[in-house]
Amino acid sequence: IGFVSNCDPEVGKAMSNELMRQRRNLELIASENLVSPAVMAAMGSVLTNKYAEGYPGKRYYGGCEYVDDVERIAIDRACKLFGANFANVQPHSGAQANEAVYFALLNPGDTVLGMSLADGGHLTHGSPVNISGKYYKFVSYGVSGETQMIDYDEVRRLAMEHKPKLIVAGASAYPRFIDFERFAQIAKECGAYLMVDMAHIAGLVAAGLHQSPVPYADVVTTTTHKTLRGPRGGLILTNDEDLAKKINKAIFPGLQGGPLMHTIAAKAVCFGEALKPEFKAYQQQIVKNARALADGLKAKGFTLVSGDTDNHLMLVDLQNMNITGKELEHRLDEVYITVNKNAVPNDPQSPFVTSGVRIGTPAVTSRGLKEDDMAVIAEMIYLAATDFDAKADFIRQTVEALCAKYPLYE
Ligand code: PLP
Repeated sequence: IGFVSNCDPEVGKAMSNELMRQRRNLELIASENLVSPAVMAAMGSVLTNKYAEGYPGKRYYGGCEYVDDVERIAIDRACKLFGANFANVQPHSGAQANEAVYFALLNPGDTVLGMSLADGGHLTHGSPVNISGKYYKFVSYGVSGETQMIDYDEVRRLAMEHKPKLIVAGASAYPRFIDFERFAQIAKECGAYLMVDMAHIAGLVAAGLHQSPVPYADVVTTTTHKTLRGPRGGLILTNDEDLAKKINKAIFPGLQGGPLMHTIAAKAVCFGEALKPEFKAYQQQIVKNARALADGLKAKGFTLVSGDTDNHLMLVDLQNMNITGKELEHRLDEVYITVNKNAVPNDPQSPFVTSGVRIGTPAVTSRGLKEDDMAVIAEMIYLAATDFDAKADFIRQTVEALCAKYPLYE
């Protein structure tokens, strides 16, 4: 940042403000993380200079011998990490990874079954405002009104009724285990492909803390920047050689031009880190922290959607606390705790207001926080929700003390 500031003070100032914010705040956005210095260094490297359209050994540009090495390392490590036969490490983002799979497997107008955004699915799983919902005929499944968990019998019923060409499993705001084996049975029964978007839980899957979708799904997509703790980007895995060829064509030349070789280098570094034993311990701590935070919030009277968490995140339903998701997000921002408002199932509020917040532990766990700290955070969230005006200064001081205990990027 110092270097950028010397060359371009305006951008440098904004960057150093962001570093200060990351140090000052407790980051509880479930989809965010804090990358290692090695991942960051790979991204800010000379590899950004290189055009490499195509794939290793088959490029449309000269001078690709070293970026070929980088991409091969990334592919080999991704396959090893997730036990897959083929990997495409080029998607610029999770959204593009999903789009490429649709482009590879579907024709416009084909029927797809995906989880509704309102119940925890992602925009790219058929939302009407996303290209997925505009080009394909998405039918949505959600969570059961009773358990607030995925109702697999209902998924099966919808699959048999609509006979989709593809079923999409995976979510952005779902706190429980997902049974990929069950999804695969349903897909087989109705003759559909199964795509699992494991973006949120990829780190847990890599560490063996969540059932892996790789043995069950035809294709698995993920982002690399959430629990996996890599650079912002996407990844596609499959065990089927024909599908792998179609997916490669869909990414390039179908959807993208030149791959971001600096990001691919950072993905390779991230996969290397994830193959080490320390990564498993890190993922275990994410889950322990999520459980501790969930227990702390429940003890304070908060209601969790589905009653609990099995993974790195929880959805807090605020309807019994007389505060909206928007208001709690705003109050927590004021006291340096970062969360995002999130709709809860059957939310009476609009998506801009919502009745819930989504809270995740990957980033604070990277910073070093443990279960005891989660109890403190639960207490601070409770005070912000119930007695904000009187307690705001106290919460800020408590957050400052916690952040000072776990310094970031020093
Ligand atoms: N898939 C899921 C399940 C996600 O939660 C997200 C991001 O939040 C994406 C895909 C999209 O990833 P990106 O923001 O990299 O496009």
